[in-house]
Amino acid sequence: MSRTVYVNGEYLPEEEATVSIFDRGFLMADGVYEVTSVLGGKLIDFPGHAARLERSLNELEMAVPMSTEELLEVHRELVARNGIEEGLVYLQITRGNPGDRDFAFPPADTKPTVVLFTQSKPGLAANPVAQVGIKVISIPDIRWGRRDIKTVQLLYPSMAKMAAKKAHVDDAWFVEDGFVTEGTSNNVYIVKGGKIVTRDLSNDILHGITRAAVVRFAREAQMEVEERPFTIEEAQGADEAFFTSASAFVLPVVEIDGKAVGTGTPGPVAARLRELYLEESLKAAV
Ligand code: PLP
Repeated sequence: MSRTVYVNGEYLPEEEATVSIFDRGFLMADGVYEVTSVLGGKLIDFPGHAARLERSLNELEMAVPMSTEELLEVHRELVARNGIEEGLVYLQITRGNPGDRDFAFPPADTKPTVVLFTQSKPGLAANPVAQVGIKVISIPDIRWGRRDIKTVQLLYPSMAKMAAKKAHVDDAWFVEDGFVTEGTSNNVYIVKGGKIVTRDLSNDILHGITRAAVVRFAREAQMEVEERPFTIEEAQGADEAFFTSASAFVLPVVEIDGKAVGTGTPGPVAARLRELYLEESLKAAV
C-alpha cells in the first residue's frame, strides 16, 4: 500500500513526491536526518531527536525550517495517516535546491528541502534478536571528523554493513587509533564486573539519543557507568556487550571478530536495560 509522505509542506502519496536533481542533499550529501521510533502509535524520545536535529542544523549553518511544535505535528500526522503502531519516522533536511551545482553554500535564504516518511515495523519492541544477540566484526573507522553531526553521508557505514554481511555477521564496530568509536548506526557498550563502559561524548561519535536515556536510566537504577574508550580486546574479554539506537533500543552483542563475549549468550545487564528503556520511554512517549 502506498504511504503518505511529507515534502516541503505537502502530504503526498509516495509516488508523487519528488525533489530536484539540484538538491544539495542529492549532489553533496549536504543534509541532516533523524530517525524516531514509534511504539503504540506514539513517538519515543521526540524532544531529544528534535534537539539534536537543531544542533546538527546549527553546526552546518543551516536554518531551522520549522518549530519543534510544527515538527511534532508533522510526525504525528504521518503516524496517523499511515496507521503506524510500531515503526519509525525518518526525517531529512537538506540545504535545498540552489538551481545549479556549486561547492559554495547557496544564499542563506535558499529554501531547505524537508522530507519525512514512515516505516511500519510490526514487532519492533518484541524483537527476537534480543533473545539471541548479534555478532559483529571490527573495521577501521575512516569516516570524517564530525561524527557528532547526524549527516546523510552514510556511504562508509553502508560499506561497513556490507563487509559485515560478507563476513556472515550482523554489524561492524568502528575502530580508530586502537579504540572502538561506535557501531555502523549505533552506540556500543561493554559490561565488566557489573560496570557499564561506553565511549565518552566527543566529535568522534554520534551523541545517541538512546545512549543518553540508557545511561540516565542505568545510573538511576544504581548501575555504575564509566564513559571512556575501550579496545576490541577489552570488549572480547568483557562479561557482556550491547548496542543502542533509536530503531533497535538495546540489543546484546554476543561475538566480536569471531570471539564469544562472556558466555556467548545475551547477558542480564543488556536485558535489564532494554526492559528499563522500553518501560520508561513508553511512559514519556508523545
Ligand atoms: N551512532 C551512529 C553512527 C548512528 O548512525 C546512530 C543512529 O543512527 C547512533 C549512533 C544511535 O543514535 P540514536 O540512539 O540517537 O538512534
